[in-house]
Amino acid sequence: MVIEEILPGGKGVKLFYFTKQSSKAIQYKPGQYLTFILSEDQSEIRRSYSLCSTPGVDDRLCIGVKRIDNGTFSRYLYDEVKVGDI
Ligand SMILES: Cc1cc2nc3c(=O)[nH]c(=O)nc-3n(C[C@H](O)[C@H](O)[C@H](O)COP(=O)(O)OP(=O)(O)OC[C@H]3O[C@@H](n4cnc5c(N)ncnc54)[C@H](O)[C@@H]3O)c2cc1C
Repeated sequence: MVIEEILPGGKGVKLFYFTKQSSKAIQYKPGQYLTFILSEDQSEIRRSYSLCSTPGVDDRLCIGVKRIDNGTFSRYLYDEVKVGDI
């Protein structure tokens, strides 16, 4: 899934929007979440993020990520990930 836009979502929160093309591939219901995988060296870190887009209304999938000060995955998403990343 490709990130198309990143917007501020409030204090310490960023909203990540995925391209329409990526979003089409996923059928979902309100309350569902996605699990993302970060591969580092020999290991994998997995974290779940709830979809904050609305099926049938929003044409792009969106997640909102709160940055946890000593958090591995949320800091990576918040600080490092940019538009165009997969
Ligand atoms: C079903 C599901 C849906 C989720 N949806 C979202 C979502 O929509 N948005 C979102 O931002 N997160 C969501 N989370 C939480 C997310 O998966 C991660 O746990 C979170 O981003 C922290 O991961 P990390 O790797 O940054 O922190 P870690 O490296 O795992 O933790 C670092 C430190 O921060 C502490 N910590 C972890 N989480 C929190 C917290 N929330 N508040 C305070 N301290 C914390 C830990 O105890 C630890 O000391 C969801 C989790 C689940 C299970």
